[in-house]
Amino acid sequence: MSTVGRFAPSPTGPLHLGSLVAAVGSWLYARRAGGRWLMRIEDVDTPRVVPGSAEEILAALTRYGLEWDGEIVWQSRRTRLYEDALATLRARGFVYDCGCSRTDGVYPGTCRNGLPAGREARAVRFRAPDEVIAFDDVLHGRVEENVATSVGDFVVKRADGLFAYQLAVVVDDAEQSVTQVVRGDDLLSSTARQIALQRALGYATPEYVHLPLVRNADGEKLSKRDGALPLPTLDERRVVETLAIALRFLGIDVKESTPREMLESAL
Ligand code: GLU
Repeated sequence: MSTVGRFAPSPTGPLHLGSLVAAVGSWLYARRAGGRWLMRIEDVDTPRVVPGSAEEILAALTRYGLEWDGEIVWQSRRTRLYEDALATLRARGFVYDCGCSRTDGVYPGTCRNGLPAGREARAVRFRAPDEVIAFDDVLHGRVEENVATSVGDFVVKRADGLFAYQLAVVVDDAEQSVTQVVRGDDLLSSTARQIALQRALGYATPEYVHLPLVRNADGEKLSKRDGALPLPTLDERRVVETLAIALRFLGIDVKESTPREMLESAL
């Protein structure tokens, strides 16, 4: 089966170094395997979307020499697909309505056997299978997690009516025939949940590669929220230097030239 990789940024701010590393990393894995590399804008969480940031991210990726295959997929236009998947899960008994307000920690299963009297349905939860889910991450090796004890039954449709990231990502990866998921290792802890959903929906499980996260001087994850600087996109010199930093972070040293040539020589 030929490889299909993807990059799936959330448009909540400009591209930063951590997301560039994930973009370049997923591009390299897909292209080295002679595969396709798809682009998906994860704007399912509409309240967090920053207007214009998707366009900004796409322009920055292009500036850094990255070219994707096919049409860009926008999660906000795919509600129908998520509705269908939820209907399938419901028909198979994998989900239930939940009337609890936000809970911290492992969900205690309050609404698992029906809504308690006087509670109204708010969110929809997936019944976490009480079993160890194991997968072999290309960089981390064997990873095992029992979702029932780590997070419990988790939300697939939120109280505000939006579909949860966990469901959207699983539906989209399957619908786009993605065979290889390369992303930051902050998402390693979501993977077992995603595999549980894939199994419930009868989807294949892709190969997983969780890249080390770029951290700031305090050892914390760089995120758009804690003020990671947007990447330079205007000055060619600075673009080239930043791309070299991203490649070096992935263990690849290339001669500085144009972004396109640098990516090609990293293959
Ligand atoms: N949209 C997610 C993010 O930007 C990535 C999801 C994924 O790669 O599975 O963190």
